[in-house]
Amino acid sequence: MSEPDCAVVKFGLTLEDREIEASARVPAGPVRVVDLLPVLHNLASAVVAVGEEQVREQGKVISCGPGCGACCRQMVPISEMEARYLAALVDAMPPARGAHVAGRFRAAVARLEELGLIAKFRAMARHTPTERFEIARDFFRAGVACPFLEDESCSIHPARPMSCREYLVTSPPELCANLTVADVEMVPLPAKPSLVLYRFSNGVGEDRWRHLPLVLALEWAAEHAGDEQPKLPGPEIFMNFLRRLAHLPKDWTPPPAQL
Ligand code: SF4
Repeated sequence: MSEPDCAVVKFGLTLEDREIEASARVPAGPVRVVDLLPVLHNLASAVVAVGEEQVREQGKVISCGPGCGACCRQMVPISEMEARYLAALVDAMPPARGAHVAGRFRAAVARLEELGLIAKFRAMARHTPTERFEIARDFFRAGVACPFLEDESCSIHPARPMSCREYLVTSPPELCANLTVADVEMVPLPAKPSLVLYRFSNGVGEDRWRHLPLVLALEWAAEHAGDEQPKLPGPEIFMNFLRRLAHLPKDWTPPPAQL
């Protein structure tokens, strides 16, 4: 299959006192938002790098790295588009590998059923932040690993969801492993691109909240395979995302979704 025609978008983004100046190569013609996810993921990593630089300037050391999967047993929220993206990623794996990963997803869902959490997980976006925290705490206590976690490292690191990119700490890994939330020192970020992505299924922003726990990604994507997905020119989608990101209030918690 031939590569789509691409456009280079040059942009500047001011986050706190830092300026990100970069360019992004995006498909020029109409595409689905999910087709732009690798570019949006790179943008998220650039935003996270600003936070990393700030804590390093303060002399702090980031604890996260390969071999530490302490946070990968937490309830990881992803956007609906990332669920489609991850399902496509698993589909594109060599058959034996794909079957192994898909089996791990099924095992995680079976464990949720055993724990009596499956209905709460499937309705996750409708809960209040406090309810979400309580459900996530019960899930974490059960120790269900992310299906992509291999040898305590992320097996899809370049394609990992935005919320995984945004989770960085300077506190000891044991605190993440025990989920002593009050003591975990997160790296403060100048913006959270995941919060834009949850409302970005239409490629414009301000859509309804569309997020779910990562362990339900394959189940959700299979159920919604036939859904219509809007298409817009790649540069337009990218600039819409950038505008939403630039205007996102810092330290803001999403309300329950209105479905
Ligand atoms: S996708 Fe990767 S980084 Fe994210 S929870 Fe899973 S293993 Fe961890």
